[in-house]
Amino acid sequence: MSIIEMQGISKVYNQGKNNECQALNNVSVVIEKGEWVAVTGKSGSGKSTFLHIAGLVDKYTSGSLYFEGDCMDNKKQNAVAKIRKERIGFVLQDFGLIWSMSVFDNIATPLYLAGVKGKERKMLVQEIAEQVGVADLLKKKVRELSGGQCQRVAIARAVVHKPAVIFADEPTGALDQQNAGQVMDILNKVNENGTTILMVTHDMDIAKLCKRNILIEDGKIL
Ligand code: ADP
Ligand code: MG
Repeated sequence: MSIIEMQGISKVYNQGKNNECQALNNVSVVIEKGEWVAVTGKSGSGKSTFLHIAGLVDKYTSGSLYFEGDCMDNKKQNAVAKIRKERIGFVLQDFGLIWSMSVFDNIATPLYLAGVKGKERKMLVQEIAEQVGVADLLKKKVRELSGGQCQRVAIARAVVHKPAVIFADEPTGALDQQNAGQVMDILNKVNENGTTILMVTHDMDIAKLCKRNILIEDGKIL
């Protein structure tokens, strides 16, 4: 069963203006449930745009997009937001964590949004924190953590509400080799638990660890 299907997706930024830019050009691709896909390509080739459209955070200019078989083309904003909140997790390159908040509250953010109550929230945060190796850091503020720890917290936050798919833009980009390896081990576990993963990387050694590679060049999938 497909989780994401693109049919002839194009994305044009600043359409009709003199700084018009076609970031994606007629992209068609199917990502099946349970896959672990690396999206590679040169800087400016359209990787982030591809990820943002697949992750329902950015609009496409033309083409059709299906998420879990459901057509997104004419979906209302709040219906898309609901899917994003319940079915999708994001891991951002600069972590996107709230520095002044505790590790626990950062990881729990998707659960607060989903209205998950105290006891269950605690249990879910504890469970995922143990899986990614940050269980002893839950009371700390994010600003007290190292880069590697931050990225593990960001992954915990992305998967705590058990989404169908997580999107990660250069999840190892800011990390040294050892921490990058740890993050890939965690993503491997997340994928083995059934979560689909779509991640952008420009590091071919990292891409090799993923089960499928998609190469983007000039807004096209090769
Ligand atoms: P990558 O992630 O592979 O580096 P991007 O998807 O970020 O590539 O960008 C693809 C192209 O679209 C680039 O030429 C970039 O300058 C352009 N682009 C990306 N985001 C925007 C934006 N918000 N407005 C205008 N142009 C953009
Ligand atoms: Mg990018």
